[in-house]
Amino acid sequence: MRTELNSSTKYAELLRSNQWLEKRKQILIRDNYRCLSCGSSYGLEVHHRQYILASKNGDFLKPWKYANLNLITLCSRCHQVGHKKFKVPVFNV
Ligand SMILES: [Zn+2]
Ligand SMILES: [Zn+2]
Repeated sequence: MRTELNSSTKYAELLRSNQWLEKRKQILIRDNYRCLSCGSSYGLEVHHRQYILASKNGDFLKPWKYANLNLITLCSRCHQVGHKKFKVPVFNV
């Protein structure tokens, strides 16, 4: 059985892949390199509005497989606030 720590470490590795960097760039361009919450252009990160767990192997869906609709640009400050405020739902698919 997979521990939570293992699967999040693995997930962090996925966020360094070229597929994700390419997807991330698309989202930043779409959002005009601005935080959607406060309009800042500093320290931008792309946030998944929801995480989807693929039931087949118990891993998260690859981060670049998400619809662009589920990804938004936030600055690091708003991103942290957002994560404290909202529990990101995880769905089984
Ligand atoms: Zn912001
Ligand atoms: Zn996030």
